[in-house]
Amino acid sequence: MVTLLINSIYRATEGEGIHIGIPQIFVRFQGCHIGCVNCDTKESWDFDPAFTMELDEVMEKVEVLSQNLIKRVSITGGDPLHPSHVPSLKALVQELKARNYFVNLEAAGTRIVPEVFDLVDFVSFDIKTPSTQVKTSRDVLSRFVEAYGQKAQVKAVVFDKKDFEYVFDFYKSVPESVRFKPSWCLTPCYEPGEPFPMNRFQQVIRLNEDFGLPFRVIGQQHKWVFGPEERLV
Ligand code: SF4
Repeated sequence: MVTLLINSIYRATEGEGIHIGIPQIFVRFQGCHIGCVNCDTKESWDFDPAFTMELDEVMEKVEVLSQNLIKRVSITGGDPLHPSHVPSLKALVQELKARNYFVNLEAAGTRIVPEVFDLVDFVSFDIKTPSTQVKTSRDVLSRFVEAYGQKAQVKAVVFDKKDFEYVFDFYKSVPESVRFKPSWCLTPCYEPGEPFPMNRFQQVIRLNEDFGLPFRVIGQQHKWVFGPEERLV
């Protein structure tokens, strides 16, 4: 029997990154120890063994939401790659693939987990910027791009010019021979409680132009449509 620590399972339209606009089912794991200060899902940080689901229950909920029409699942968190999740995460991905789902994995960018990355169809891999107050490794990013870049996006939330320059330095640190493999995507920060940050969006777009247009700039559509604090959208 496989038991999973799940925060929520819901159907929504992807609101960010290069798959923006695609309806899918989100499976959000509980628990994260990474601690980004501008995290917009802090309610997922706790590990709460009182709320577990068996793999059969998770698949039943996914199938009900799918209605055999939406064959895409995005696995997110929390930190679905926390070592304590990996065995159950792997079992979930195997079951989803056996039922012909396209599986996207949202990875925090702190670790590479080949036994899971090899199974999924796509990995969204974060660069944690200075405004998150979390450090990520250029070496980890380079190894990820080399091994999995052909089925990945590298994504960073950008608050200001310092964040932008930091991501640009990471981008330049990846060997040119593999840098082209993933999509590189900037998400202008849109924090809970603030009005739509138009000036920040414009600044990120202009910085991208000034630095030679290496990135795609894609905002968090669900936040301007539903508001930055709305959940399960
Ligand atoms: S890794 Fe994700 S869930 Fe964890 S703190 Fe950072 S943004 Fe929040």
